[in-house]
Formats: sequence, C-alpha cells, structure tokens
Amino acid sequence: MKIILVAEYRDGKLLASFNELMDFADKMGGENVMFLVGGDNDLPKYDGKLYLADAGTFGEYSPDVHKQLILDIVEKEQADMVAFCHSSYGWDLAPRVAFALKAAQVSEIVEIVDGVPVVPVCNAKLRRDVQIKTKRSVVTLQAGAFGLPEEPAGTPTIEKVEGDLAGRVQFTGYEQPESGGVDLGKARIVVSAGRGIGKPENVEMIANLAQALGGEYGASRPVVDSEWVEHNRQVGTTGQTVAPKLYVACGISGAIQHLAGMKKSEFIVAVNTDKDAPIGEAADVLVVADLKEFVPLLTEKIQSL
Ligand SMILES: Cc1cc2nc3c(=O)[nH]c(=O)nc-3n(C[C@H](O)[C@H](O)[C@H](O)COP(=O)(O)OP(=O)(O)OC[C@H]3O[C@@H](n4cnc5c(N)ncnc54)[C@H](O)[C@@H]3O)c2cc1C
Repeated sequence: MKIILVAEYRDGKLLASFNELMDFADKMGGENVMFLVGGDNDLPKYDGKLYLADAGTFGEYSPDVHKQLILDIVEKEQADMVAFCHSSYGWDLAPRVAFALKAAQVSEIVEIVDGVPVVPVCNAKLRRDVQIKTKRSVVTLQAGAFGLPEEPAGTPTIEKVEGDLAGRVQFTGYEQPESGGVDLGKARIVVSAGRGIGKPENVEMIANLAQALGGEYGASRPVVDSEWVEHNRQVGTTGQTVAPKLYVACGISGAIQHLAGMKKSEFIVAVNTDKDAPIGEAADVLVVADLKEFVPLLTEKIQSL
C-alpha cells in the first residue's frame, strides 16, 4: 500500500494538519510520500519524500492545477491511495482526483480498525465500516480524528514539482471572519452550551455559571449555527481551540469536531442526560442530569460560597 498524503498551505503557512495525515499513514502501514503546494519557508517535519510544488507558481488554491499535479504523482509513484484532510481544500479536491482515477472515495474517516476505514453516519450517531473495492482509492480524514501523540520530527527529502499548468478557477483571496470580542483561548475556565440547552433563552443560564466561576462561556456548533451564540464563542475544529484549567460541557454529546477543540483542557466536567454520551469518555466527571435543573443549582451554590 502506497499512500500520497496531501498536506495543506494557507496564507503562506503550512497547516499543522499534516500531522493528522502522518498518524493516518502510520495506522494504515505501508509506504507514504507527501505532496504540498507550498513554500520552502514552512516545511512539514516529515522523514520521507516530499513533492513540493511552489505556491507562487501553482497558486495556493487552484483545484484543476492541483488535481493534475496529484494525478501525475499518483502515476509516478504508482500509489494506491490519496489521503486529504476533510477541510475545504480536501473536500473540493478529493472528488476531482477520485473521479479522474475512477477510484472509490471514502470521506470523513474517523478511525481505522484492522485496516478498514470507519466513517460516521446519521449525524455521527452511528459508525459504518467501509470496504474499498477499487484498486486505487481517495480518502478524507475527519478533522481531529487522527494526530500523532508527539510533535512530529524529521526532515523531508524534497523533490520539486515543475510544470506550466493553467487552472479554470482564479483564486482571489481569503475572507477573514470578524474578530474582536471574547478570546476563549485565554480563559482559564470555559462553560459551553450544546444543543441540549434546548432554546436560546437558556444561554443565559450557561453564561451565569461561567460568570460565577470567573470564566467565559462557549458553545457547540449547532448552538452557533442557530445564532443563539456568536461564532467567536464556538469551540471545535471550525471554531476555537481551548485548553482551560476547567471545561464544563453542558448538553454537548462529544462529537469529534467538538472534542478536537477542547480535549486538551486540564479538567473536564460534562452535564448530560445520557449516561452513554461520548463526551463521557473525554470527561473527568460526567454528571448525569438535566442541565436545566443542575446548572442553576450549581450556579447558586457557587455564588453562595
Ligand atoms: C466539518 C465539520 C466541522 C464541525 N465543526 C464543529 C465545531 O467546530 N464545533 C462543534 O461543536 N461541532 C462541530 N461540528 C458538528 C459536530 O459534528 C456535532 O454535530 C456537534 O458538535 C453536536 O453538537 P452538540 O453536542 O451540541 O449537539 P448534539 O450532538 O445534538 O448533542 C446534544 C446533547 O445534549 C444532551 N441533552 C439533551 N437534553 C439535555 C438536557 N436537558 N440536559 C443535559 N443534556 C441534555 C443529549 O443527550 C446530547 O448528548 C462540525 C461538523 C462538521 C461536519
């Protein structure tokens, strides 16, 4: 099995997610090479062959061009699999590469069990094992599902990719989300609201507990998507990454994308009516209770201290 790991570069910088690709490759076994459209200034710490295409020449985002570069390397390396992160870059490019290779595509892999990819279904309530039946395959990895336990180390052997390709899409730039307001990354205590809070009026309950503890409140994505809480308070892969001394997850199930943003917290308390909610595996303490009863009671107790 030979895998091409497609690393990413954004705004002149290598994204740390190359380390998730390396962990995936380790778990798959076999050989791997890395591909990056990037620059010499920021290279992955990777002990292997790196095909480096210059972002100045090929563009940071140019799907037609990057697809062709990857296809050329698949041919040259006689690779069996191409692995992307399940990011905006990966989910745009992966189907293009899979279609060109007539390869099976498996999206959002969260785990490898005995060499078989596992993907989430039913809004991540269930998991499905997927058997790949084509000679070649293209996969994307769920953000946060893989990652080396230690900082990666190594120096790649670089093979420069040259060429003269023109794409059909012109990349014009990135749009930064509005910043300002709270910086959850600096808070020592974060209390987060999940879909389990039930209605927007209950955000106040979570904010009150956060205030009583001297911390800030955050939220899971559905709460932000429903516009009950502003985006700069979202915790997870598409929000903020936090590592406070105490993280209190209220009505949050513990999806991988949420865990990826808070699992490095020093102490995690989860409040959930479901004793089997996956957040229980990450939590130091799981309080099996209705948050609407438990959170006001706890807040009152803390305020009376
Ligand atoms: C590409 C991508 C990126 C994503 N990025 C993020 C991200 O950055 N952050 C993020 O959070 N999610 C993200 N998600 C969404 C993620 O997959 C989950 O859907 C989401 O985290 C679920 O939010 P939740 O736990 O609040 O809701 P649910 O999964 O619906 O869980 C609600 C929980 O509340 C409990 N509950 C219900 N009522 C009560 C009650 N009265 N008292 C106590 N507990 C109760 C339930 O038992 C359940 O466990 C992303 C998804 C994708 C595909």
